[in-house]
Amino acid sequence: MKTCVEGLLTGDFYKALLDSIFDAVYTVDVNGNIVYWNESCARITGYSAREMLGRRYNETNFSCNANGEHNPEERNSNGIAIVLKTGMPGTWRGYVQRKNGQRIPVQSHVSVMHNPSGEIVGAVEVFRDISAHVSLEEAHRQVLQVSRKDQLTGLYNRTAITALFKAEIERSRRYNQPLAAIMMDIDHFKRVNDRYGHDAGDRVLAKIGSILLFNLRKPDAVGRWGGEEFLIIAPGDDLAAAEQLAERVRQYVEAISSIGVPEHITASFGVAQLQPDQGQDQLLYVADMALYKAKTAGRNQVAVGYE
Ligand code: GH3
Ligand code: MG
Ligand code: MG
Repeated sequence: MKTCVEGLLTGDFYKALLDSIFDAVYTVDVNGNIVYWNESCARITGYSAREMLGRRYNETNFSCNANGEHNPEERNSNGIAIVLKTGMPGTWRGYVQRKNGQRIPVQSHVSVMHNPSGEIVGAVEVFRDISAHVSLEEAHRQVLQVSRKDQLTGLYNRTAITALFKAEIERSRRYNQPLAAIMMDIDHFKRVNDRYGHDAGDRVLAKIGSILLFNLRKPDAVGRWGGEEFLIIAPGDDLAAAEQLAERVRQYVEAISSIGVPEHITASFGVAQLQPDQGQDQLLYVADMALYKAKTAGRNQVAVGYE
């Protein structure tokens, strides 16, 4: 009885069959030595069968882990070694490294091979180049990103922040946690445009966008609500915590310097906390009223709103 995988690979028919399929197919024996390497393996990896046959699969350069780093041991522990040991097939997405160093994303499946008496004689890995797939996914991801972002400030646009706001209100209700909204409006911004031009105004908006992105904690979200108005959503914050947050942002804005505008840039803030019977519109109304209060009280300050 043959217990070696080569024994199964007899006949020109099977060789021709395997060499003509589009997926990469190779087999290893129980020791992990490569005993078969089809044409698609050679096409995808750049390594010919002559270079690979007889070598241990994890001592070759073609294997990469799921992050695309060349680490045969890791791939070994994820893939063929485990399959050989357990007899259980496995599927994963990872990378192979081509002979020229280029990494190619692949979808891979490994299963064991048995001889007619049911003994494990090796494993077969079938992998497929999914570069086109991955770049399409990446393109989709980018489109989604772009459609959610305000181009000038890099913040969420109004549509995106509105959707996030809605989701955060639902979450706050479900888990009975506080949620606060801060409406922020740049002071006398029309004057900045009038004195230094629209482009200078745009630079101020971009700078404020990066200050907000850089200084807010992870659960907070900020979007450009309109022209020179921004909405900050602070999950987990009650009125006092959100007031402190707004005060911190106020100070960051006040400290802006060197953007080519001699004008002192400041902003005003209206803070509100979600109440049990409120929806998005009512919460924003209270934040807006507080913002109005901050403006009329002299700008460059934070005001809190109560229902
Ligand atoms: P207040 O302190 O009361 O908020 O005064 P303000 O001048 O900031 O308010 P107002 O609403 O009168 O003016 C807002 C200005 O913001 C007017 C508009 O030209 C400017 N603005 C809105 N969007 C943009 C933009 O994308 N780029 C630039 N440069 N300016 C913008
Ligand atoms: Mg405004
Ligand atoms: Mg303004």
